[in-house]
Formats: sequence, C-alpha cells, structure tokens
Amino acid sequence: MTARPPSPDVPPLARPVGTLWGVGPERAAQLARLDLRTTEDLLLHRPRRHEDRRHARPIAKLSATEAATARGSVVAMGVNRYRKGAKSVFELILDDGTARLHCRWWNLPFLEKYFAVGDDVFVFGRLSGLKPRTMDHPETEVVETGEENFIHLNRLAPVYPLTEGLPQRWLRALVWRTLERFESQIVAPWPDLESKVQSPKPTVSPAAGTASEAHRSLDSGLWTALPSRAHAIRQLHFPETREDAERARQRLALDEFIALERDIQSRRRRFEAKARGWPCGGDNRCIKPFLARLGFTLTAAQTRVLREIRRDLNGPHPMRRLLQGDVGSGKTVVAACAALMAVESGFTVALMAPTEILAGQHFANFTRWFGPLGVAVELQTGSHKTAVERRASGAGGQAALGLSAASPRPAPLVIGTHALIQSGFEPENLGLVIIDEQHKFGVAQREQLVRKGRYPHLLVMTATPIPRTLGLTLYGDLDLSVIDELPAGRGRVRTFVRAADKLPRVWAFIHGRLDEGRQAYVVYPRIEETAGDLKAVTTEFETVTAALAPYRAGLLHGRLASRQKEEIMAAFRANAVQVLVATSLVEVGVDVANATVMLIENAEQFGLAQLHQLRGRIGRGAHESYCILISAASNAEARERLRVLEETSDGFRIAEADLKLRGPGELLGQQQSGLPRFRFGDLRQDLELIRWARELARQLPESGAALDAARSPA
Ligand code: ADP
Ligand code: MG
Repeated sequence: MTARPPSPDVPPLARPVGTLWGVGPERAAQLARLDLRTTEDLLLHRPRRHEDRRHARPIAKLSATEAATARGSVVAMGVNRYRKGAKSVFELILDDGTARLHCRWWNLPFLEKYFAVGDDVFVFGRLSGLKPRTMDHPETEVVETGEENFIHLNRLAPVYPLTEGLPQRWLRALVWRTLERFESQIVAPWPDLESKVQSPKPTVSPAAGTASEAHRSLDSGLWTALPSRAHAIRQLHFPETREDAERARQRLALDEFIALERDIQSRRRRFEAKARGWPCGGDNRCIKPFLARLGFTLTAAQTRVLREIRRDLNGPHPMRRLLQGDVGSGKTVVAACAALMAVESGFTVALMAPTEILAGQHFANFTRWFGPLGVAVELQTGSHKTAVERRASGAGGQAALGLSAASPRPAPLVIGTHALIQSGFEPENLGLVIIDEQHKFGVAQREQLVRKGRYPHLLVMTATPIPRTLGLTLYGDLDLSVIDELPAGRGRVRTFVRAADKLPRVWAFIHGRLDEGRQAYVVYPRIEETAGDLKAVTTEFETVTAALAPYRAGLLHGRLASRQKEEIMAAFRANAVQVLVATSLVEVGVDVANATVMLIENAEQFGLAQLHQLRGRIGRGAHESYCILISAASNAEARERLRVLEETSDGFRIAEADLKLRGPGELLGQQQSGLPRFRFGDLRQDLELIRWARELARQLPESGAALDAARSPA
C-alpha cells in the first residue's frame, strides 16, 4: 500500500503516516515494514518495554541475572578484526563514575559510526561477564542535546520494536508529536459505554466496600476504573508509572475484547434469526434399552449434560454446544445418547474424530452398542469408503433435507475422520453433527462440516480443559456443558517424573506390571531419529522389545498404513500385544482399560496439557495405574516444569499452567486453533477483562458503524 494524498473525507486518524509532519517516503516505507500505515496504527504501536530513565542503575551494581538500564559516557571504543578481517568485534567502554562497562557487538563494525568518545549513552541489558564488566549486544541510545530532550530523558521512556534504519529516538519523538496533535481526536469506539468503563464497577465480591478496594488491580477480581481511550493511548507510550502503563494496556485490551465479543454475539444473533433447529429430541425408544444394557449407570454429570443437550435438540434453534470433560469422564456415552435422540427422531447423525484410530474405536463401540437396537453404523475414513459415501458422491443434488425425515429407512450413524468433510459427504436428513476432540480440528473445519445440510445441530466435545480466557474467546459462540465428575471405581493414577538414568529400574518396574497381566504404553516424541538426541519410536522399538521380553510389543505411528494401524490397535485391545510403542498419536481417545502403565520418554518435548491427555489413556479400569515421565538427565528445569503433573490430575489446573508457560497458540495447537490475535489483550491473564467485555457488549445496540475503528488489524 502506498500513501494516498490526504483527503478531507478521511478521518485524521485513518490518514496515512506519510501525511504526518516529518515523515517522508523513506520513513513511511520503514514504518510500513512494521505494519504502521495510518496515524492510528502509529498511535497503537505498542512499546516493547519502558525504560526508567529517572533511575539509571550504577554500572557497579549491574547484574548477570537481571537486565537493567545504566548510563555512562564513552571513554574508549574501537573495532577489532580477526580471521583475516572476515570477523569483527566492536567494543565500547562506558564509565559512570562507579565502574566501567565493556559493551561488545560481533560482526556489526558499522556501529562504530554511531558513537563518539565523550557521548552520553543509555545502555540496557544484563552482564555476560564480571571481570571486566561486560555486556554483549546490549540496547543503546545516545543522549543528544536538544529541545526535545524531555521526551527521551527523566521519564519512563518507551522502547519500540524497530526495523532496520529506523532510530528509536526518532520514532519516540514522532509518537510524541502525533499524540500532541491528535490525542483530542481519539474517541472511544463505543461512546455509550465510556461512562461505565471509566467508573469503578461493583464487584462480584460483596465485601468490596471501600474506594481503595475498588481501585485494586483487576487480578484481585475487582473491577477498576480504567482511563478513557485517549488517555490510555497517551499512557501506553508515556506513562507516569508502570501501573499507569498497565492500566492503559487493560483499557485498550478491553476495547479489543468488546469488539470480539460484539462479533461473537452478533454472529450468534444472526445465526438464530435465520436458522431453525430440526426436532431431534427423540422419544427414548432407543435410549432406554441402550442404557439398560450399558453395564453401568450414568454419572450425575453425564445425566445433567444429556438434559441440556435434549433441551437444545428440542429447541427452536440448532444446538451449538461445547461439551467439555476431562479425559475418561465418559463423553463417548453422552455422544451415543445424543446420537440416539436424533436417530429416534428419524435423522442422520455424523460423528467425526481426529484420527483414524479413534474413528475406528468409535465404530467398534457404536456398532456393539447400536447393533442390538437395529441402528446401522457406518465407518468412513480415508481408507474406508462406505456405501453411504458412494451413494452420496454419485447421486448429487438431493439436498432436500428434513422432508425425508419421514423416510421409513432407519437413519444411519456415520462415523469418520476429517475425510468426511473433504469427500462429497452430504447425507440426506443430517440432523446432528458430533465432533470429538474438537481441539484437534480447526474452527474452519468445524464450520465446513456444519454447513453441510441445513444447519444441523452441533455438539463438539473436547477433553482439553480450556482455560476460561481461551474458551470465552474461541468458543464464545457455543453454549458450554461440563462433565465435572469421573465415573466411580477408577483406579488411581500415580505420576512420577524421572531422569533418564533411572530407566533400567523403570523397565524392571514395568516388567513387574506386565507380569501381573497389565499392559503398557511407551511413547516417544519422534517417528524417526533426527539431529539432536530426541528418541524416536522406530529406533527405540528394539530397546523396548528387549527390555520387556518375553512380552510382545507393537509399533504404532502416523506413517503406517491404516490397515497396519488397525491391526496393531486390535492386537493391543485383545491383549495379544502387551506393549504399545507409539508416538503421541495415542494421545486422543484410545480406550483400553487393561493398560495401566504410560511411559513417556523425552517428556520435556510435550506440553503439559498434552501429557495430561496421554496420561488419560491409563487409569481407565479398576487397577492402579502409573505414568512415568522421563526427561533428559541434564534438563533439571524441564523436570521442574513436569512436576505439575505429579502434583495434580486436575486438567484445568494443568491447562492453566500450560497456558502460562507456553501461551495460547501452543496450548491449543497453533494456527489451526483459530484464536483471534490481540495487540493488547493477553489471554494468559485477562479473564476478568473478557468477562467485563462480554457484559458490556451485551449492552451495545444491535449494530453500530464506529465499531471497527477499535479493532486492531491483526
Ligand atoms: P472420554 O471422556 O475421555 O472420551 P470415554 O468416553 O472414552 O472418556 O470413557 C472412558 C471409559 O469410561 C469408557 O470405557 C467408558 O465406557 C467408561 N464410562 C463412561 N461413563 C461411565 C460411567 N458412568 N460409569 C462407568 N464407566 C463409564
Ligand atoms: Mg473420548
């Protein structure tokens, strides 16, 4: 995008940065590389940090563990070249009267021209050496004399992300001038909400009586007054205190969350306005005998969730429900009952699983469960093409759903993987779509499947306990049901974190469990050995086989043909194979009650939530189970991180810990996750803000034009 000439029609904040005083084409191009194209982009350019230039740290007090800002004058400098001039180090020696500091940069000889002996320099970093005090590749800024000095000195100075050729000092001055000129033009995207945002809101806790309490941080669960948007933008750049900077961030994050919540809510309203739900509540004629024959009674949580589902299936709008329940909480049976409700009502049900193994397992279970009821079940994965699919892909345009509900043919249940979406699968009369292990699918994929047919009911299930911040942003348009109770009679799962040198004893221990008739999983992070020292299933298979002889081991990973995968899973289920050596492919859904040991090598390679899922494969029967996490002997830090799993089996706590450690993208599995991107919002900590935004968004009128102003161009 090139800068357009300013036009009186374009609101000032939307004008290109090139129209600002002092920004020529070259600077505009540099700013564009940072995605700063309009005046508003510039004003929302978030500082990486603030440097406290009122209190520089004496050089003598700098430390190797904590980065800090110091200030000194250049007493000597020079470039040393070596390797015949191919390499160089530029060294700058600063003195502040307390000590000298050697700053070094490798292979950036041109830096020399930015400094001169006698210069007054700010330097930020941590020491890499103490004798002499040394900093490698620190951030620096030369103090210049001039009338703009008050922008840069004696304050919390913003330090921005830069791009090559763009000086920190220049950008800071540009932001300052732009604020001076445009601050008064910054308006809140939702003027009606402004008074609510700016006055303290009563809290959930009735104890919060006093004014001082009302101003405590949001973390304590109290709402607090936030600055106006204009004021927040000034404080984002030039705050008086670090608390001001944080409150500014919260205000701007709140605006982002309101924009998101408004989107979610209006999408939901539009959807409900146009989509009517098929009557899929059923009449119990299949469910009754199904439950009678099941061999166990549903937990209270399962029953409650089923009531919620039935209400939706009988409701005026298509169900949009997320079923959350920790591993082993019994979501499959709930799915089966929901499917039967739709089937009783004469509709077709599609059940989608993320892996062929899991689809195959569901097929086996549902066939066993539904066979006696006379309800046909079909499997359709990449390797299984069913009659239904062939019919569907051949027949074409018969999309008249619903009307054929009266068809006497019992509606089949079709189980598949994502191949279901990709193929021409378009059954007549699709009433309900169930997606198992939703987090393994992208949001886009989910939408794709649901668009098949005309607004079938949708039930998505996940075992990933999704921290509330993520759930509300990612699944905000879904209603939530939670199975918060495990079936009784489960054996305990004990978890141990061990260093790799303990392996011989671990093998002996596992051998002992196999002697008792149990089975085991052994999981590795890789299929094949690559560079580095990560263990791989294909190479470790021999080791495991030898260590656990005479018991039989089977090998399972994603590169095997479907047929092979099925054979191995079948053998493991039948206890013809006692040890399953696998990749994290077994993470989701696999259910073999006799398997009581889970050994995971290079456990540090997995996220905590993923390890929790893997651990969920055991403890499914009455026997005591053991999860052993092995991490590289040298990696004590990783072992500390893994201790969370020793301490708790509460999936929510584990997911929260994972979120803090690795961030939302990692926790949910990257780009697929469909998480919105925020410039200011932080999904690790902003739960209260998101809740508040949700409430505020509800108070907005149906439509508004100014709304998109607040949305950051993520
Ligand atoms: P997940 O929620 O992880 O998908 P599953 O649906 O695979 O869990 O259930 C785990 C195991 O618990 C299965 O073997 C299932 O048959 C069993 N199960 C489910 N509900 C109950 C219950 N109410 N009582 C006893 N066992 C149950
Ligand atoms: Mg499951």
